[in-house]
Amino acid sequence: MRHQWVGGQWLKSNHDRILVVNPATEEIIDHIPRGTAADADRAVQAAREAFNAWRWMPAVEKAQLLHAIARDLRGRQKELATVMTGDGGKPFCENRDEVEWVAACFDYYAEIGRNSRGSSLPPVAHHQVNFTIKEPYGVVVGIIPWNYPLLLMAWKVAPALMAGNTVILKPSEETPLSTLDIADIFGAHLPQGVVNIVTGFGEEIGEALVRHPGTDLIALTGSVETGKHIGQLCAAQVKKFHDELGGNDPFIVCNDADLEITSRACCWVAFLNTGQVCASAKRIYVFDDIADEFTERVVKVAKSLRLGNGLDPGTDIGPLIDRRQLQDVDSRVKDAIRDGAKVLCGGRRSPKFKKGFFYEPTVMVNVKQKMRLVHTETFGPIRPIMRVKGIDHAIELANDSTYDLGANIYTNNMEWAMAAMERITASTFWINDPLTDNDAGPFGGMRQTGHSRELGKEGIDEFRETKHVHLDYKQELKPYWYNKRYNKDAPGV
Ligand code: NAD
Repeated sequence: MRHQWVGGQWLKSNHDRILVVNPATEEIIDHIPRGTAADADRAVQAAREAFNAWRWMPAVEKAQLLHAIARDLRGRQKELATVMTGDGGKPFCENRDEVEWVAACFDYYAEIGRNSRGSSLPPVAHHQVNFTIKEPYGVVVGIIPWNYPLLLMAWKVAPALMAGNTVILKPSEETPLSTLDIADIFGAHLPQGVVNIVTGFGEEIGEALVRHPGTDLIALTGSVETGKHIGQLCAAQVKKFHDELGGNDPFIVCNDADLEITSRACCWVAFLNTGQVCASAKRIYVFDDIADEFTERVVKVAKSLRLGNGLDPGTDIGPLIDRRQLQDVDSRVKDAIRDGAKVLCGGRRSPKFKKGFFYEPTVMVNVKQKMRLVHTETFGPIRPIMRVKGIDHAIELANDSTYDLGANIYTNNMEWAMAAMERITASTFWINDPLTDNDAGPFGGMRQTGHSRELGKEGIDEFRETKHVHLDYKQELKPYWYNKRYNKDAPGV
């Protein structure tokens, strides 16, 4: 039984509880408080009280604290990865990697945040100095989804802290445990109230934080539907909204690609975390003349992947997050079959398991662009393969989407690669190496995926405002002022 972390201590309460379920076993593994508007209020108060001191702490001191957090995270990598496998279902090795990326992100922003606080500008006249300084917004609310609970937390918390904000985190109700587990790491290194963690449903405590007049920036990673709703609430308050929403990334395979490498890359980027990745390749477009061979290879790899409990070292793919996700995925497959699609492998809940939300890695052909499976985000291990006549056709279909997170291509033909890079609307473009993140490289969306950026220099600027400072070190009368007593030659005199 867990508690919320507010103002540097555990908030004991008699709240209703939300069950935390292991998606591989369907066992109840813990309970979290169903946070209320009153809890949101307490967290805002704690974050506001901490803000003034935190904001003015020198960046070099903040950096030391973030490095210390990174060290502690690495020290607890195995323990945290085990907890994440318990409530999220991802294989242990993927969660272990996630903890390392989280620590690396804290290290990165510790350095980026002490590197620059604005820039110097050419003045419009002699004896003037112009510069910008970056200032924090105040209290940042981080609303996190379940698929990468610590990583997507870090991409917000690390830059927000280095920018001088204090933070309230609302982890997903599905995967709150690892975030609560690192409260003591924040507590050991940060002044109380600088990071607070509340739990509960999005529509309840999440929305209370969004609506609260004491919060200044809402940073959401989540679905397009949630983004639209929170965006409207923020717009009504003229509150800054940072949105990282759903994706439906294309994966283009040209006929010069190495099919052994490309089919494996395709399966990795399609089935990683059971296909529950915002930037996984969700629509596969293959040049017609290699489509049969490529498809055959993908099916072979997909069939070889082992489903299982993420704690089992032999597991390649874990369960889906919950029953709702399982039903959503299955209904998309059934709709597509009804409309003429063909399943080459998978296409069903795995019969091997009595418990757990396991769905077999699925490859489908004869799919059409307008099917729900293709045209909207399918968050599961289902991959439709479509044939294209050439690069122009592939680019046209890749762009036929309202989501624009990432896009992938496999080719050594630079003309095709660069044409696709320039013409496909996507904010990350991967050529011959899908889904590799780089802390220095900005990540985010376009159109309905949102308009923010995480990581890179851009990632810290999302959490600070720009102030322009104009300084004239010589006080003098200006020829263009109204007062004709001072200036006989001024216009209109
Ligand atoms: P979701 O939108 O259901 O929930 C995300 C978070 O928002 C949760 O913490 C939830 O409790 C909260 N929430 C829901 N309604 C709310 C409300 N009215 N007010 C305040 N908070 C609210 O998304 P999910 O199912 O947890 O995550 C999967 C989605 O996230 C997918 O669409 C995926 O593509 C997207 N995602 C995007 C990125 C990215 O970087 N663009 C990364 C990972 C996941």
